[in-house]
Amino acid sequence: QVTLKNFTKTFDDTTVIDSMNLAVNDGEMLALLGPSGCGKSTTLFAICGIHRINGGQILFGDRDVSDVPSQKRNVGVVFQNYALYPHLTVFENIAFPLSVRGDSKPDIEREVRAIAALTHIEELLARRPAQLSGGQQQRVALARALVRKPDVLLLDEPLANLDAKLRLEMRSEIRRIQLETGITAILVTHDQVEAMSMCDRIAIMNKGEILQIATPTDMYRAPVNKFVAGFLGNPP
Ligand code: ATP
Ligand code: MG
Repeated sequence: QVTLKNFTKTFDDTTVIDSMNLAVNDGEMLALLGPSGCGKSTTLFAICGIHRINGGQILFGDRDVSDVPSQKRNVGVVFQNYALYPHLTVFENIAFPLSVRGDSKPDIEREVRAIAALTHIEELLARRPAQLSGGQQQRVALARALVRKPDVLLLDEPLANLDAKLRLEMRSEIRRIQLETGITAILVTHDQVEAMSMCDRIAIMNKGEILQIATPTDMYRAPVNKFVAGFLGNPP
């Protein structure tokens, strides 16, 4: 379980997130859905440790990771512009987090092949990123994020750079992979259809606050206010 307790983030004098509380259950995929600038990426950066928090706590299970540096949190991330290493092959890109950790060659070989099978990129392992389509690059990024078996997978607008057809295909692929691995995941998006079609629950955000957390069906049927209703495209 990933828990934020009274999570607060300020930049200079501006408080962007003020005392946010959020609990993501084991094995669930939760959408953080909200308009541009509401604090979605800031929340993910805090969970993965890129940003230090200014108040509150971040817990992985019972472990308080608030002061744990990013490399020691065991988090997998896929960002919209989270580039693959262009000079490395697909195999080497995926192997990278394991090499850094000091895994043995046979272990690396085995883990990379297993995750490549899961993400359907076994035929691409010898290529370089420039020789891949956008969707294939996203599969590789996902494989690289998952190969260490992270405690949580963070996805920040992972489909934003894909064309409409690929976006549909990758929606169901990301969900399939999340379900097959059983990994706890947070998907940041401002696309309500994406959130509703991919996730177990949706947390709807505005201006640094979570307004409602519910399953897509419950939220659609019973939005807590006009903002939520309007944002889901179901105005009262
Ligand atoms: P988008 O959908 O456009 O990606 P978002 O919900 O991810 O938006 P954030 O990037 O989390 O939004 O930004 C939340 C607020 O914090 C915005 O008002 C933004 O201007 C501000 N902000 C983000 N990063 C910084 C920074 N490094 N310094 C100052 N302000 C920042
Ligand atoms: Mg963002």
